[in-house]
Amino acid sequence: MMATLGWTEDQFRLLFRPLVEEGQEAVWSMGDDAAPASLSKLRRPLWDYCKQRFAQVTNPPIDSLRESHVMSLRAHLGDIAVLPSPLLDSGQLKTLDRHFQSIAPIAFTFPASEGVGGAKSALERIREQAKTAVSENQSLVLLTDRNIGAQHAALPALLAIAAVWKSLVQAGGCELPLVIETGQVIDTHHVALLIAAGASAVLPYLALEQASSLAHGGARRYRVAIEKGLRKVIARMGISAIASYRNSQLFETVGLDAELCDEFFEDAGRALGGKGLHEILQDCIDRHCEAFAGKTTDLRDFGLYRFRHSGEQHANSPEVVRRMHRYIKSPTEENYAAFVELGEQRDPIAVRDLLEVAPADPIPLDEVESEASILSRFSTQAMSLGAVSPETHRTLAIAMNRLGARSNTGEGGEDREVYSDFSGANNRVKQVASARFGVTTEYLVHADELEIKIAQGAKPGEGGQLPASKVSAYIARLRHATPNMVLISPPPHHDIYSIEDLAQLIYDLRAVNPRARIGVKLVASTGVGIIAAGVAKAGADVITISGHDGGTGASPLSSIKNTGLPWEAGLRDTHVALSKAGLRGRVRLRVDGGFKFARDVILAALLGADEFGFGTAALLALGCVMARQCHLNTCPVGIATQDERLRTRFTGKPEMVETFFRGLAREVRERLAGMGARSIEEIVGWVERLRPRTAEAARALADLLQPTPTPPQTGCLVDDDTRLHVELNKTIGDASVSQRRFRITSADRSIGAHLSGEILRRLDLPDGSRSYEFVGSAGQSFGAFLVAGLNFHLAGEANDYLGKGLSGGTISISAGEQASRRGDVVAGNTVLYGATSGELYVAGRVGERFAVRNSGALAVVEGAGQHACEYMTAGVVIILGPAGTNLGAGMTGGLAYLLRDSIGGHGYNHQSVRLAPLEVREEIWLRRVLLKHFRLTNSGRVAELLNSNSPLPLLRVEPLVPPCTVAETWTATLARVERPTVKRQETPVLPLESPTFREALAVM
Ligand code: SF4
Repeated sequence: MMATLGWTEDQFRLLFRPLVEEGQEAVWSMGDDAAPASLSKLRRPLWDYCKQRFAQVTNPPIDSLRESHVMSLRAHLGDIAVLPSPLLDSGQLKTLDRHFQSIAPIAFTFPASEGVGGAKSALERIREQAKTAVSENQSLVLLTDRNIGAQHAALPALLAIAAVWKSLVQAGGCELPLVIETGQVIDTHHVALLIAAGASAVLPYLALEQASSLAHGGARRYRVAIEKGLRKVIARMGISAIASYRNSQLFETVGLDAELCDEFFEDAGRALGGKGLHEILQDCIDRHCEAFAGKTTDLRDFGLYRFRHSGEQHANSPEVVRRMHRYIKSPTEENYAAFVELGEQRDPIAVRDLLEVAPADPIPLDEVESEASILSRFSTQAMSLGAVSPETHRTLAIAMNRLGARSNTGEGGEDREVYSDFSGANNRVKQVASARFGVTTEYLVHADELEIKIAQGAKPGEGGQLPASKVSAYIARLRHATPNMVLISPPPHHDIYSIEDLAQLIYDLRAVNPRARIGVKLVASTGVGIIAAGVAKAGADVITISGHDGGTGASPLSSIKNTGLPWEAGLRDTHVALSKAGLRGRVRLRVDGGFKFARDVILAALLGADEFGFGTAALLALGCVMARQCHLNTCPVGIATQDERLRTRFTGKPEMVETFFRGLAREVRERLAGMGARSIEEIVGWVERLRPRTAEAARALADLLQPTPTPPQTGCLVDDDTRLHVELNKTIGDASVSQRRFRITSADRSIGAHLSGEILRRLDLPDGSRSYEFVGSAGQSFGAFLVAGLNFHLAGEANDYLGKGLSGGTISISAGEQASRRGDVVAGNTVLYGATSGELYVAGRVGERFAVRNSGALAVVEGAGQHACEYMTAGVVIILGPAGTNLGAGMTGGLAYLLRDSIGGHGYNHQSVRLAPLEVREEIWLRRVLLKHFRLTNSGRVAELLNSNSPLPLLRVEPLVPPCTVAETWTATLARVERPTVKRQETPVLPLESPTFREALAVM
């Protein structure tokens, strides 16, 4: 029975069991390297052709973990009943039976012996029954496949719900509650698809029965896991209420033909053509017949997650691993050919396997660009220090630097010792992700490219996660976090809620490091081309399109499997959209996702890519055996682990990675010669050189292979609003700067960022601190990335992102004594986001999301909006006024202080933090800090507090599990604060080349 309903043994064991036993989705690693449903030789259920949509850039995902109070799963069944969630059980259905006068049951099963014709008749029947339910004024429609059996097969539940919903709407019955009970549902993805296709509620009877029989309390835990998963699915799209998700068709299909999609999912995204209704129904019938013909009731392991000989094909099969290792060990032509043969002759696992390059007259090899030139287009993709061991991280960087290629830090920051001593292990690409781990000004100025990670192929719309077991003392130090605490990054960048915000972050980063290219990483999805056009207009130099099969150190299994599109579709869409908009000339397009062979590189170039990213392949070259234990910290070869014992097993050498990439570049060169092209540049976007391998492929890829129009392309963007930056740059060596006052307006953005970067780049400056006075209304990102030794005082007010990424500098803001007493708001939202050290004193209130991801700064403000101190891991924050709701959500380190009177019933996040009275010595430290606040801002509010003879009316807000003592937190924070001199590099970073800020540089 389970087999006919689409269950497999590996799904039961690896996907379903953790939901029941742990009440949460299974975590997995290394991405999805199995063939997608549309290319599979197995009969995969319709669910597998559908991917969840996710927000990127144009609207942010919601943080369903830390901001769950804004989420709602309440499901309305007309105006008769409201369910706490759309997940129903049999008991609830019985209760509904009593509430609803007339329920119209509709069975979506059909006689299996009637074949596809019978299935199509059943579809017609259920449509008619739905219309009848409307005309007969029924109060609820209940779709069911309970009567499935040897004689009766079930239609795919998703098809049935879509057909019935559409009929209800056509008959004017869209208010009619539509409930489906089905045994086909296994996990969250299935429930979410049913709701997106029109279901008001879902009763997964077989899953609930199985959960109950598996473990005591299993059904309850299954419900908890699915509901948590549903919140994540809708949050991924930036939707907070499931009621808004219902019938949204917020999913995209991959490999289904247009006719089927128009008939059932007309509002869903569609990528690539493929199977039609007839084939989907035939698969369903074949699965049914096979299940009932079997001699055993055991489920079959389809090898969906791990390679199995009789199961699904995997791109990283044991044979691929074996031949790669053999080649790296003994890099002969014969061994290389044996490795390449696997890519050339494999059955289709990826979309590109359906394509080949049209033959052309070859040219001599020596007319083709050099190997070095080709290598410069390669990079290893983001793998964080934390996800992989320090040895692996450094080995990859050394290898790529030697090759003249690029490696990427990933989102965990980088060891200062490594990037500042020019040992050759500096990662040229440094990532800036939502948690801003280790993102200091020093880190930024040592990059050749700064990559803003908007989304990741394995889990778009979610933040990264590093299991507690991998947060060693070393990793915690680099990330300014606490050892042995799980590190989850926020799903959104809290300073990117729109394309304009992204433009601002790009501006900030360019200000700090004008030499670096600024990249933005997106994930392939329908419409990604339009988003990329916005990103190009926002000023990015590089756009990365990641495929759904991107690797990961740890991600929920359902996210790995059910989000994102093949990069081929996303890349082509992006290349075409940018070309049509005349923007293609402004950006380089990089692509990643399962790259291993020279063939992948050539095909990607023809589809529009300039540069190529490699993840798993580079790890395979280093000795990865695809054990898929990266998330467990038990990597048997010391690659994806922080365990000291396992790290000693690491045998990787930079030469191994070099061997792989040199072989690859050599073959790319040969292939270019074979197709008569002199360089990669020559073939970028030349899709006419591609042809489908079969007639079937031609139908599926017709859209992908459409030639691109090439209107004139525009050049680079140059920011020109650098007036105040120029003025400030002139003052770098000027000891009398503290006597000057600078007028500032809201057009002056990121003031301090360029100055900070420049100070770190210069060696000829005298030591000591410099103070700057500003008057007026500062634009966005005032004091962003301000370094130690720079003191900014603003008489006036500041816009959003004040003190973003503060790196040791001191900022004070005052709008006058009375403004402080009145509680005026004098700074905008997302103040101090990602600060790592330094001080901020604001004599007034600040906006929402204050000090999110603070990992070491000291701050005093006189009131803050909602979500203050979210995800904070270190530092001290004092709030002398109202503090909004949800303070301290996800806070695992550092301390906050609130006025006793300002704490309402729900003012702080009870799941993460608690209140405690002050200790005596704490009062001393606090008074010292408040005195400094008064001196810098003349705060009326603090004057009152300090003049009173009473003890300070403050309470401490501390993590539920404090990582260290109060004294230790204060000592660490004050130690950083009391280091006020400019701390420059021993070695300057490379000269500036970027056109942006050229004006600023010209006058220096
Ligand atoms: S060998 Fe290590 S790096 Fe490779 S998949 Fe296994 S755990 Fe991950």
